[in-house]
Amino acid sequence: MFPKAHITIAAATTIVVTAAILMSPSADVEAKRMSYTLDLEQGKASKAVSQKSQQESKEAPDETVVAEAQPQINSETAEQPDPEPTPRLDWQTFDIESGDTLSSLFKQAGFNDGIMLAVIHGEGEADKLQRLYAGETIRFGSDSDGKLAAIELQRNLLETLRIEKQEESFNGTTEMREPEPRPVFASGTIDGSLYLAAREAGLNDRLTMKMAGIFGWDIDFVYDVRKGDRFEVVYEELYLDGEKFGTGRILSARFVNRGEENVALLYTDSNGDSDYYSPDGKSMRKAFLRTPISARISSSFNLQRRHPVLDVVRPHEGTDYAAPTGSPIKAAGNGRVQFSGWKGGYGRTVVLKHGDNITTLYAHMSKIGKSMKTGARVKQGDTIGYVGSSGMVTGAHLHYEFRVNGSPRNSRTVKLPDAQPIPASEMARFKKVTSQQIAQFEAFRNNYQHLALAPED
Ligand SMILES: [Zn+2]
Repeated sequence: MFPKAHITIAAATTIVVTAAILMSPSADVEAKRMSYTLDLEQGKASKAVSQKSQQESKEAPDETVVAEAQPQINSETAEQPDPEPTPRLDWQTFDIESGDTLSSLFKQAGFNDGIMLAVIHGEGEADKLQRLYAGETIRFGSDSDGKLAAIELQRNLLETLRIEKQEESFNGTTEMREPEPRPVFASGTIDGSLYLAAREAGLNDRLTMKMAGIFGWDIDFVYDVRKGDRFEVVYEELYLDGEKFGTGRILSARFVNRGEENVALLYTDSNGDSDYYSPDGKSMRKAFLRTPISARISSSFNLQRRHPVLDVVRPHEGTDYAAPTGSPIKAAGNGRVQFSGWKGGYGRTVVLKHGDNITTLYAHMSKIGKSMKTGARVKQGDTIGYVGSSGMVTGAHLHYEFRVNGSPRNSRTVKLPDAQPIPASEMARFKKVTSQQIAQFEAFRNNYQHLALAPED
């Protein structure tokens, strides 16, 4: 998993960690979640993260680092900026309900339409006050003379439009709060399905989908997953004023499928683009999705098959996926539309051309995606149409073909080219950043195993 070059570059602590990741985890670790943050005293992990975040302030704001290393009380007091020393205002607060208008809200607060117009014709982003939605909160601040001095429109926990009277006019600015991400570790062993194990480990559906997406190029989560497969993931929990607000990105993850280890690390390159890579710098993505739809296979690729409708031996040059009519079908890779329309027994069909020699075909659609005109560019994952039962079929399904130089290949087993790996010019930076990520992952993991194996009180 880790090439030798990595070890020579890495610091001594990382070598220990590298050795640890190769060790198989103890078998009796159960699906459980650890919701704690490593501190600077306990290990190198947080320290490593701080160094990384400073380099990559584009992704992770600096306060993240501070908050992570400090007790919660500090981060709370530090994050509440004191309002300017403006004179005390009298505030009136209204929860916006459907049916409310800006005019009616101004009226309730005791201000007429003339003042409202002066506000929305103000400077900066003051005009954005015209877009109001039910569920938002608006506050009117008046000075000691009862004149309107400020308005705050809180759109959600993170976004507030603040309008202040300045000399003659009103000036609006949007303030965005950044939730503080804290890394959290979760781990599980699959007994039934990935979803059950993930839920038991405390992962929400969004994170589970993300994890399946990261490994989905290598692992078919409908067919390849076996009882005993394991996953470990470090992801962000987002906090606002010390309260859990939601979940963020997956930072690193490991999935052991039938004894084979897959490791994915989130890396933001020097251009600011983020993607998942294996520790040796290969993209987790492939130039093609293994399956264009997440569904059960109803008929496999088989060149000797007896046709279900014609009842003669006719090769099945594709794979059928049973899915309800209307289920979206994704483009397996980037390419161009070579054919779009009715194609005999295939019914409504789209054929995509990828590079020089590969084509993919999607048949029996109920509806073809609207931008699927011949020659149009298509990106991997774009919806190209919807499952149906057009053409010669016995029921709704997607018939999917993968052809190389015109010859049919089994899309489930054909070797798929990888997306772009980390370029040589970026490799040293990649190694440096990801060695810290691996250290964080390992520190969490060792701590977790330690806790899991400790006798319970
Ligand atoms: Zn078929």
